[in-house]
Amino acid sequence: MALLPVLVLNSGSSSIKFSVYETGNSERHRLYEGAVDGIATDQGKFWIKDVDGKKLVDATPALPNRSVAFKLVADALNSEDFPSPKAIGHRMVCGGPTVQDNQLITPALIDEMEKYTAFAPLHTPIAIYIMREALKLFPGTPNFAILDTYFHRTMPEVVTHMPIPEEYSAMGVRRYGYHGISYESIIYQLQPNIPEKLIVAHLGNGASISAIRNGECLDTSMGLTPTGGIISGTRTGDIDPGILLFILRKIAENTESATAAADQLETVVSKRAGLLGVSELSNDMRDLREAIKQGNAKARLAVDKFTWTIAKWIGSYVAELGGLDMMVFTGGIGENDIDSRAEICAGLSALGIVLDAERNNVRGAATISAKNSPITVRVIPPAEDLIIVNHVLRLLGA
Ligand code: AMP
Repeated sequence: MALLPVLVLNSGSSSIKFSVYETGNSERHRLYEGAVDGIATDQGKFWIKDVDGKKLVDATPALPNRSVAFKLVADALNSEDFPSPKAIGHRMVCGGPTVQDNQLITPALIDEMEKYTAFAPLHTPIAIYIMREALKLFPGTPNFAILDTYFHRTMPEVVTHMPIPEEYSAMGVRRYGYHGISYESIIYQLQPNIPEKLIVAHLGNGASISAIRNGECLDTSMGLTPTGGIISGTRTGDIDPGILLFILRKIAENTESATAAADQLETVVSKRAGLLGVSELSNDMRDLREAIKQGNAKARLAVDKFTWTIAKWIGSYVAELGGLDMMVFTGGIGENDIDSRAEICAGLSALGIVLDAERNNVRGAATISAKNSPITVRVIPPAEDLIIVNHVLRLLGA
């Protein structure tokens, strides 16, 4: 079989990240990765590098909008300098209740997913914009939506159903769960020795935890939106609904329309809360650890809230799973923040978890539990692009 270049697109609020894989029957080689960063600024960054880290493109273009940014990517990848992609995989956070399977993107599919923008308001509009552009700028190339919710489709109804009036459940309000592509990539990397009872903590700027039985998701902390679950960089996680009502009423005192008030509430719970809200300093764990060293009490409280909540949530998942064989840390904090891992595991000592301080003193993949720990604790970086490529090839029937 001829090798097939597959493009993976992962768009954020101010950047478009991408990678190109060369694929065959069992080959999956990343050829290039790149990004356009600083969208909506005069001096953005556009780079593409090969697997050896050599920069093939390194530019600082003006990036007035996302359209200009994506055209740079499309023009480069459609030029003779790069193999033109034969298929494109888009990371899609949420497709709503009617789009739960990874599938070929058509204009009708995009319209359907757009109805549920409110379920991932920070992610969906951007991904949808890029999908529409990709259909135009890579004509004739099949594009596929690869969903973060797909991994969580195995959760039982008792977990997905929300305790709300039925009319809202009928509108698609339920637990979807996110970071699914990351979780899939952990299972992929654990093969063939997938533990029966596994908990994975994806701790990045957005953070979530999943309880996984025999490789299938049983429960996950994020709910209808990526704002639910555990506290993360700028998001509340689950909170008393009365708090939302209190804040909404306060906002409404000075706001004319209900929609404007809801938008402001959205900003409060999704962009101004979490580690940033409590510390009043930063959503970045590195800044908070530095501030703690300087004796900053608010940074200490924010981080304590983070690790405490995670340990509490993991405890409840151990109960759901009926025990625990392995715990995996992943995501920027999970991979790199030695102190967070130590603090979370200290909160779980009642479960018998024993961390080896020396083994934990690493960044990147490692087993960090002590030899005598009945529960293995590992650090595994996610490989999300690889999972997207695998889904694209499966859907292509390649
Ligand atoms: P992600 O969203 O997965 O890229 O993760 C972002 C989070 O990882 C931020 O809170 C960063 O502060 C954190 N992070 C990245 N590198 C480090 C590091 N070396 N030490 C501590 N935290 C880190």
